[in-house]
Amino acid sequence: MKEIVCKLLVIGAGPGGYVCAIRAGQLGIDTVIVEASRPGGTCLTVGCIPSKALIHAAETLDATRQMANGKNTMGIRVEAPSIDLSGTIGWKDGIVDRLTGGVVGLLQKARVKIVSGRARFRDGKTVEVETETGQQIIRAETVVIATGSDPVELAALPFGGRVISSTEALSLRELPSKLIVVGGGYIGLELGTAFAKLGSEVTVVEATEQVLPIYDADLVKPVTRRLVERGIKVFTNAKAVGLSDKGDALVVEGSGGRQELPAEQILVAVGRRPRSVGSGLEDLDLDRSGPYLRIDDRCRTSMRGVYAIGDVTGEPMLAHRAMAQGEMVAEIVAGRKRAWDKRCIPSICFTDPEIVSAGLLPREARALGYEVKVGQFPFTANGRAMTMQGEDGFVRVVARADTNLVLGLQAVGSVVSELSAAFSMAIEMGARLEDIGGTIHAHPTRSEALQEAALKAMGHALHI
Ligand code: FAD
Ligand code: NAD
Repeated sequence: MKEIVCKLLVIGAGPGGYVCAIRAGQLGIDTVIVEASRPGGTCLTVGCIPSKALIHAAETLDATRQMANGKNTMGIRVEAPSIDLSGTIGWKDGIVDRLTGGVVGLLQKARVKIVSGRARFRDGKTVEVETETGQQIIRAETVVIATGSDPVELAALPFGGRVISSTEALSLRELPSKLIVVGGGYIGLELGTAFAKLGSEVTVVEATEQVLPIYDADLVKPVTRRLVERGIKVFTNAKAVGLSDKGDALVVEGSGGRQELPAEQILVAVGRRPRSVGSGLEDLDLDRSGPYLRIDDRCRTSMRGVYAIGDVTGEPMLAHRAMAQGEMVAEIVAGRKRAWDKRCIPSICFTDPEIVSAGLLPREARALGYEVKVGQFPFTANGRAMTMQGEDGFVRVVARADTNLVLGLQAVGSVVSELSAAFSMAIEMGARLEDIGGTIHAHPTRSEALQEAALKAMGHALHI
């Protein structure tokens, strides 16, 4: 039996774990990272990156199909585009290979030791790993749990056969003719829209009264409008209760009663659960917050010297939150004074059109007792949006009525994901409406709508 003793042991090489290990390595900390599957975690292998590749391919196919049908041609002539889904998945896998290989390279550059295999806790500071070359014991002064999350399974619709999770949906070699998506959240709408663009007949079943319930109705309206235009059927206030007797349809209960929806494939995307049990984690008896590991503002768990970061610690389950926690913990382990002081964690839904949000929505700001000013500028009045055939949507700013301090920024529109950096930066730096309104925004860009929204909140927008 081999034994390694190190200063820092990171369990899981997803965005949380690998960023933590790289930063620790940079700071000269003797670091080991253990990964049961592929470096890069959910995000790089079966999450963020593969889904965005599929979405981009679907958008490209859809745009060329529209041109072939004489719509939105911009004068371009295209004839009968088609897709080889296997080829698309192969292209996506190539991107994943490059990125996971890149993570290994970065870890090596930072002199982090990578151990491949599943870690099992013996105690808070010791794990055993079954590797290809035998059992490995690793003892560490400090441990970071970055084990991530898994898709939630519905008891009435266990995964298997035609019932799939996002992981399988991202590797289908043949396009399902009829796809039902259970859950109208991030994954359901991002992938549901992509499959509709690729050519599947898509139906979304959502339990609450609105798809994407985390956003307000104004932000979601352009997305639902586009879902209808695409022929995607949406059932809200509806719950999936199981498969039909023959097993070829989904039984749904909602305000319209009980009905059977025929399906070739059923994608269940009703959230993710933390990997906080198994691997001996339950024996550590760490404090929980619901199913998640409870952490403080330094990502410390209830056991001294044991930290937790990323999806295993709860919402929002986003890669950039995991990375920011990982970087912070590495610095704390190196003795630097750090605590979680972020003002916002931006979120983006890569739907058609995209939604981006940083800071507080108007309803959230009001619920906290703020009197707010809201300025909204539509892309119909933005030249760049017109040249890109993307006039649907708007940029919205939420600011304190008394001081003009910006509390929240949101947008819905095509490619607005790229505005997220400006949004977060404004909030982190404590911008006021005057700061955004007084900054020269290059022309012609969609970001001019940000400046105009700030001017509008102050009562003097220029282009509307
Ligand atoms: P993970 O990425 O889940 O990594 C955990 C790692 O730990 C895994 O590699 C796992 O194999 C390993 N592991 C677990 N247990 C052990 C053990 N006992 N021993 C060794 N290794 C272990 N987020 C965004 O911000 N933007 C997006 O666009 C986005 N799109 C997504 C699309 C989909 C389809 C999905 C499913 C998720 C998406 N997410 C997105 C969420 C994002 O993937 C996660 O928030 C992120 O991956 C969490 O990082 P993590 O490091 O906490 O965990
Ligand atoms: P989600 O929480 O975004 O959406 C789940 C949806 O399913 C909700 O709208 C919920 O009301 C609905 N639902 C729950 N039970 C249901 C039932 N029985 N029948 C019908 N509807 C039901 O979860 P997700 O889409 O599975 O994504 C998981 C997580 O992954 C997200 O919370 C997010 O953190 C992350 N993610 C992020 C991105 C991104 O950043 N662009 C993309 C994909 C995933």
